[in-house]
Amino acid sequence: MTDSISYDILIIGSGIAGLRAAISAVSVDSKLRIAVISKVQVMRSHSVSAEGGTAAVIFEEEGDNQESHIYDTIKGSDFLADQDVAEKLVRSMPFEIYQLDHWGMPWSRRKESGRIDQRWFGGYSFPRATYAQDKVGFFEMQTLYDTCLKHDNIHFYNEWFCTSILTGDGNHSGKNSNNNFRGVTAIEMKSGNFFKIKAPAGIICTGGAGRIYSFSTYAYSSTPDGLDMAYRAGLALKDMEFVQFHPTGILPSGILITEGARGEGGYLINNQGERFMKKYAPKSLELASRDVVSRAMMKEIEEGRGFKHETGVHCLKIDLTHLGAERIRERLGGIREIGIKFSGIDIINEPIEIRPVCHYMMGGIHTNIDGATEMKGLWAAGEAACNSTHGANRLGANSTGECLVWGKITGELAAHYALNHKSDSLEISEHQVLEEEKRIYDGIFRGNGQINPYEARKELTDTMDAKAHVFRNEKDLAEGLKKVREIKVSTWKHVDDHAREYNTNFINVMELDSMIRTAEVVLIGALNRHETRGAHAMKEYPKRDDINFLKHTLAYYTASGISADRDNINNEDGSKMGWFPVTFTRYTPVERHY
Ligand SMILES: Cc1cc2nc3c(=O)[nH]c(=O)nc-3n(C[C@H](O)[C@H](O)[C@H](O)COP(=O)(O)OP(=O)(O)OC[C@H]3O[C@@H](n4cnc5c(N)ncnc54)[C@H](O)[C@@H]3O)c2cc1C
Repeated sequence: MTDSISYDILIIGSGIAGLRAAISAVSVDSKLRIAVISKVQVMRSHSVSAEGGTAAVIFEEEGDNQESHIYDTIKGSDFLADQDVAEKLVRSMPFEIYQLDHWGMPWSRRKESGRIDQRWFGGYSFPRATYAQDKVGFFEMQTLYDTCLKHDNIHFYNEWFCTSILTGDGNHSGKNSNNNFRGVTAIEMKSGNFFKIKAPAGIICTGGAGRIYSFSTYAYSSTPDGLDMAYRAGLALKDMEFVQFHPTGILPSGILITEGARGEGGYLINNQGERFMKKYAPKSLELASRDVVSRAMMKEIEEGRGFKHETGVHCLKIDLTHLGAERIRERLGGIREIGIKFSGIDIINEPIEIRPVCHYMMGGIHTNIDGATEMKGLWAAGEAACNSTHGANRLGANSTGECLVWGKITGELAAHYALNHKSDSLEISEHQVLEEEKRIYDGIFRGNGQINPYEARKELTDTMDAKAHVFRNEKDLAEGLKKVREIKVSTWKHVDDHAREYNTNFINVMELDSMIRTAEVVLIGALNRHETRGAHAMKEYPKRDDINFLKHTLAYYTASGISADRDNINNEDGSKMGWFPVTFTRYTPVERHY
């Protein structure tokens, strides 16, 4: 019999979204019992690495206004954002900045007035990225975590790996549906024991999936386990083809040089010493939106105006030398240290080599404007969710904002729901739990095979780098899908280390399982979208097509192998594609110019 734990609310993930949700839930009723479950220690959650800033309108008296932030976000999204959602983000953000301030956030301030300072970021009409040197995520996380620790009823389950969503009957609604959240299954990594953790309400805050690419700014733990749990439970993944490539990842590691570096005045240069962005975005130059800048960079490289890095990869450079040592030390100290340690270059003295790098997933678990998923009692927030704030391309500094806003919203909603459903029976069929045990212990832990799972993981992520990058084409995408499916049916599902305690080998293979299914969804989505929109640039379809594709993609898991793409060689399981309308309020799509 599997060990069982019960709570009122389960929050899966302890990044900015998860911590903000916990504080929000506890503020509804301080007696609610809340569990925050995380596969890493809280302060190792990927959010700590956010660098440049969090966007909000706080200087209206200096000419900024919320209408402009809303429009910038929608224009940045290439008009695929749900317009009511973008508006909700913008209207909620000023409160979040001051709320963090009151909880102790050390925002960078103006010397003269002592007021919170803001810097430029790409795609904005006003400098509205609120920052804390170049370590905004670290300080936001520390502030939120400190605040959580003031509440005895927020319990942290660090280094617990969730594996599936448990569902049950909707006895409160009178209907006998199996579409109600009842909890999760999880492995306590310290002991290796398997648990069911029950609750009437849950929030998935498991972050992005950027480790499905090799060259990536994400933490090594940013794998799509949470997305895949939802997908396997029958929930849709939305807009997964939209993967953001940030213009400035250093070589060879992929670690990020924040957009704040261009916000502070950094130049992008090619091998002619030319600030090439003037050809692609004459008004905004380096501060055009990320999709525009990354495409321009790849074009420069393809046309032979890149530098050859010592690893053989072609790249461009970012030049910050003209900013001066004092400004760099004060505002960009973190990336200076990163440059010295990981590329051997001091940005005070010389330009540093950079290349577009996988950085953000616009897609995620399909939710409505309040973060509610298609399952009763279950919400999703932060990068794991796709409430359609960012559409086809996110503006920098809007993601930490999204985590804060929808952490707060979903925390409150889950708290009210839990209070109203406390008396619900949380009976979970043992069959469900046994099936999950079978899937992971018989299917993976005790599996057999010749293929080394670490090599399979590398092959998968290299395939994504090669076949689904900034510029895409049908041939590459189809080849990528074929490769991913070959990996899927090969014999990688086994674990050499059979220790119970801290078995990271087992966890790595579990992560690979979710990466394969998610990579497949990204590729199928991309193959089905015959246009260029935001971060999805197709060579065969270089224009945006609002007549046929101004809509979201939805991917549903199917065990039967039904597939919407033309090249379904897989017979194990697959993805069924659907479409979902975009919400418009008052902004008509136009051609974008920066
Ligand atoms: C280098 C970098 C810099 C960035 N800078 C900025 C910036 O300046 N401004 C901005 O707005 N955005 C920035 N972003 C984006 C932003 O940081 C992220 O989108 C955001 O922090 C995601 O937060 P989150 O709470 O959704 O998830 P995360 O912080 O990714 O946390 C995910 C959590 O889920 C847990 N988890 C995952 N799977 C499981 C599982 N199976 N079981 C249990 N727990 C699990 C993890 O342990 C973790 O606690 C940056 C991104 C990168 C990569």
